[in-house]
Amino acid sequence: MSTGDSLRLTYLIAICALWVQMAGMAIASDKRITVFIHASLIPMTSETVIPDQTVVIEGKQILSVGSSSQINTPPNSTVIDCRNAFLMPGLADMHIHFRQGWFDEKKPVSPLKLFLANGVTTVRCFGTRSQRNHYAFAWRKKIETGDLAGPNIIPCGPQLRGHFKENPENIVIRQKYQHYDFIKVYSFVTREEFHSIMSTAKKLDVYVAGHIPFQVGLDGVMAEGMNEIAHIEEFLWEFSDLDRKRYFENEGDWMTYAIQTTFNRFSPLLQLPPEEQEQEIEAMVTALVDRLKAKPIPVCTTLVIDDVIVQKLFDPKRFLEKPENRYLPSNYLERFRIGRDKHQLQFKDGEVFAPFKYLLDKKLLVALKAINTPLLLSTDAGTDGMGIVPGFSLHDELAILVENGFTPYEALAAGTVVASKIVQRMNGWDAFGTIESGKCADLLLLQENPLDDVANARKILGVMAAGRWYDRKAISEMLAIK
Ligand SMILES: [Zn+2]
Repeated sequence: MSTGDSLRLTYLIAICALWVQMAGMAIASDKRITVFIHASLIPMTSETVIPDQTVVIEGKQILSVGSSSQINTPPNSTVIDCRNAFLMPGLADMHIHFRQGWFDEKKPVSPLKLFLANGVTTVRCFGTRSQRNHYAFAWRKKIETGDLAGPNIIPCGPQLRGHFKENPENIVIRQKYQHYDFIKVYSFVTREEFHSIMSTAKKLDVYVAGHIPFQVGLDGVMAEGMNEIAHIEEFLWEFSDLDRKRYFENEGDWMTYAIQTTFNRFSPLLQLPPEEQEQEIEAMVTALVDRLKAKPIPVCTTLVIDDVIVQKLFDPKRFLEKPENRYLPSNYLERFRIGRDKHQLQFKDGEVFAPFKYLLDKKLLVALKAINTPLLLSTDAGTDGMGIVPGFSLHDELAILVENGFTPYEALAAGTVVASKIVQRMNGWDAFGTIESGKCADLLLLQENPLDDVANARKILGVMAAGRWYDRKAISEMLAIK
């Protein structure tokens, strides 16, 4: 390490220490007390419902949890009676984006409100290609200080997409200093660039999540020690006959090449009778997952992407009539109506590949789960051109997980306790995802038990995010289109 590097590291450590201290002061200075009484508690520490529990909140933190008969309600506290209701930790969407499409005058409702209204109290933002469009960091500050209502935001910096104008090492160092929680790597990064990114990230202890770059491939990603794969669908390229030495200046050319090569590879499979097709897919998936067995790498599920693609291509009327799709930006919906949505273009004349890809991704989900891969509840909501609605889509993702062999507890764990443990690897804090003293006051009050039926997680009576309580009335105001 050079002198410059060590100086920068010292500076970084000092800043981090100050930041932790300030965060502690902010929590300590907020003494508002809220008490949830007589709740059926789903702490998510294990698969259990504990009857008649009290949860005391001070400021943004859970102070204590215990039997309602034993914990007294402190004076001057706000009391929320949870009789006949279920209290669980707020949910995390571990892969979202905040982008321009949601911020012009055509936006019906801010995505921050869509998340909160759906019980999503943490979002991990996978960034954009430019700093200019990157809202996550500024919003996080405003949400932390209470100037804005929204979920806790865990942001990466501007995506590392390749074609760099500077040494990628410098970008990693800069994003670390800017306090982003992780680095996002995109498909077009070359082998040399990826090596430079990963070796710098390892030196600085920076978490790297991303696509499997086309030139690098899964084996390269594993060898360099990338921390997480951003979608199950990223494994698709592993089944393709990509020439990993190819390089394109233009991102669009690179994508066209990858998609075309993959379609060519799968074409013969599509001719097979369904049973044989499924057997073939299972054999492919098993061989792939065997390569991960020794050291399962965390993966974001994002299967709702496939679900939405199939709807858009094969049942566009139903897609447009989905009640929550009224929250999509009107310029996106106009593009969809004239056939200019991202997937309408990508799958043009290859629509049959969409259900095939969905089946493949579902088989991957099952196989990854079987080798104990940490799977993270996530949707890719919020990108301009995909039609995935923030918040609502996370409940669709839960349903898809349960349809594919997860118990409701396992599906909810992917967006609570498992998610928080992964964030701990990123920034050192296992701060949410369970109801225990010391954890963040991010809670979801439900009318019915989500462990019986995961769809009950949609039956929301109220949401607490960073200690702020939103009752049913507040939630319906959030969702109103003015
Ligand atoms: Zn994404």
